[in-house]
Parts: sequence; C-alpha cells; structure tokens
Amino acid sequence: MSVLQTLKERSNSTCELCTATNDLKQYVIPPSLNETVDNSVLVCNTCLDQIEGNTDMDANHWRCLNDSMWSEFVAVQIMAWRMLQRLRKDGWPQDLLDMMYLDDEALSLARATGEDKDESEKIIHRDVNGVILENGDSVVLVKDLKVKGSSMVAKQGTAVRNIRLDHENAEYIEGKVDGQQIVIVTQYVKKT
Ligand SMILES: [Zn+2]
Repeated sequence: MSVLQTLKERSNSTCELCTATNDLKQYVIPPSLNETVDNSVLVCNTCLDQIEGNTDMDANHWRCLNDSMWSEFVAVQIMAWRMLQRLRKDGWPQDLLDMMYLDDEALSLARATGEDKDESEKIIHRDVNGVILENGDSVVLVKDLKVKGSSMVAKQGTAVRNIRLDHENAEYIEGKVDGQQIVIVTQYVKKT
C-alpha cells in the first residue's frame, strides 16, 4: 500500500490536523528525506497553505489542534507542536504546548525547522543573491563544485531540486546531484 493510502486509512480520509475531508494531501515533515508513513501526515489545503506559509496563519483555524495534538501518531503530534509554536504568542497555544508531551526523538525533529525560536535567533539560509531559501526549493549551482570525499565535480548550472536546509548552519544546504546526496554551500547556489 502506498504511503498516501496508508495515511488515508489511518485517518479515515480526514485532515489529521483539522478533520476536513476535502483536498487532502500527503505532507512529509521537513527536513525528512524519505517519504514514510511515520514522517507524513494527511492534511487539507487550508492547513497546508498555512504550514507552507503561502497564506497568513489564521489562529482560529488552529483551534483544531486542541484535539489533534492528542493524536496517537507522532507525525501528527509534531505538526501540532510546530503550529502551536508559531502561534504561541496568542496565549492559548502556549497553554496547550505546556500540556503536550513529545519524547526526545520526536521533540528534536519537531524543533528542526525552528518554529520554537524567535525571529532574531532563527537561522536563515540565503542564496548568492541574498534570496531566502526554504526546504524543498530548487536551486542551480553558480560555480563548479568539488564534492568532498569523491572525485565528482558538480558542474556550474546543475539544477538541484528539493533542497534541505542544515538547521544548525546557515551556510549549508543538502541536495541530490547525480543521485548522490551532497552538502552545498549556500553562496554557490541561486534559487530558481
Ligand atoms: Zn486541515
């Protein structure tokens, strides 16, 4: 069974965050590289647009987290935690966060995208032109790069899709070149 099918089954084909039943999609929790059931949630468009920052956060919509934060599935708990962190200044989300329990492994994944940090301490990745990079972006290399630990050279102009940000270092991103996962310095890439 595909990951999407399994997600639909476990959620009864409802958004695992807000229980909506239309426009459901699989969302792989960044910065996960592999699509597995354990690091995916089924979400509706309304949730997804806000998760990805395409629309502003609507605090009222996220009252749904009151219920979904108690999901038995860790992936859902992690997404609930991240959304509550984004809204924590509203008060009630902080109260819910105080009641939540994530084990160490889940908490470290939950923290990986910095939702619990204030703007000033967030690590921001920028490309050669200063444009902000996000997980999942596509970039091209602006110069030839020697790949550490191999004889491979990644050529200038090579497109790298679906990049992952190094959440501890603003200088580094990861991406696949010729099927190999490599670390790339942000000043050598341009967002496309
Ligand atoms: Zn939803």
